Amino acid sequence: MDFSLVLNEIHDKLKNRNSEGKLAAYIPELAKVDPCKFGIHLLSTDGKEYCVGDYNEKFSIQSVSKVLSLSLVMSIIGEKVWDRIGVEPSGNPFNSIVQLEYEKGKPRNPFINAGALVLADILVTHLKDPKKEFLNYLRILSGNKNLQYNEKVAKSEKSVGYKNASLANMIKSYGNIENDVDVVLDFYFHQCSIEMTCAEMSKAFLPFATHGEAYHLPEPILTKSRVKRINAVMLSCGFYDESGEFAYKVGLPGKSGVGGGIVAVQPDQFSITVWSPKLNEKGNSVLGMKALELFTTKTGISIF
Ligand code: GLU
Repeated sequence: MDFSLVLNEIHDKLKNRNSEGKLAAYIPELAKVDPCKFGIHLLSTDGKEYCVGDYNEKFSIQSVSKVLSLSLVMSIIGEKVWDRIGVEPSGNPFNSIVQLEYEKGKPRNPFINAGALVLADILVTHLKDPKKEFLNYLRILSGNKNLQYNEKVAKSEKSVGYKNASLANMIKSYGNIENDVDVVLDFYFHQCSIEMTCAEMSKAFLPFATHGEAYHLPEPILTKSRVKRINAVMLSCGFYDESGEFAYKVGLPGKSGVGGGIVAVQPDQFSITVWSPKLNEKGNSVLGMKALELFTTKTGISIF
């Protein structure tokens, strides 16, 4: 299928509808991003690319990184990760602390901040040089050897990271964080600060559309069964308390981040990334949600 036409139609239709939503200004550095940016990139499993708009500009991947930290964690400790994190949708905002206390420090799922902090703790425990090794992993997946942390963004988030600090401390008080809280937070703020283009993000997520392998990787990153599990968690928990809405309207496993990026996969066919920085009140890109809804409606392709 030639997706160029449909991506161009969607981009044309939405590009001027940029009045809704707000930048993730709670992280001061992200308030500086041009709110009009809008790009879409689709990568098919055989390596064909279809793209439109600002698909080749870097943006802050933020919570999209949580899927990649989960996949690295699963490649290290496998299913043991579920002793420390659940797989149920939280029905709460991404940075909510309320559930954590009555569920005794076991986060509902790996894609809310609490869960991602436990993943960060696991990587800090198991990797010799966690920041370097995580970046390396993403460099291989994205095909960009020069991928970097954005130190300004990491520092900016740290300067206001009170909620993440309280989540980490609460989890630590229940014994579900092993390492020093500041070290875990430093890793987490850095993983969120990584910048990718839509094209790089589609590439990094291609293995989730191809059962763990991809044309640009020397070997599978995970087994077929683990990729299935990660896709299942993306479908049920990838959009915080809007995960049901995304599954209903779009019908693909995916993940969003407050940098305005959304990535989704159609198993055996493609990965697709949309970037538009203005967010709805749930923290998901307004145009990103809309573009993907239009995409699966127009093409008739979804996992259902
Ligand atoms: N670094 C962000 C935070 O912890 C990630 C949130 C997101 O992208 O949803 O607030």
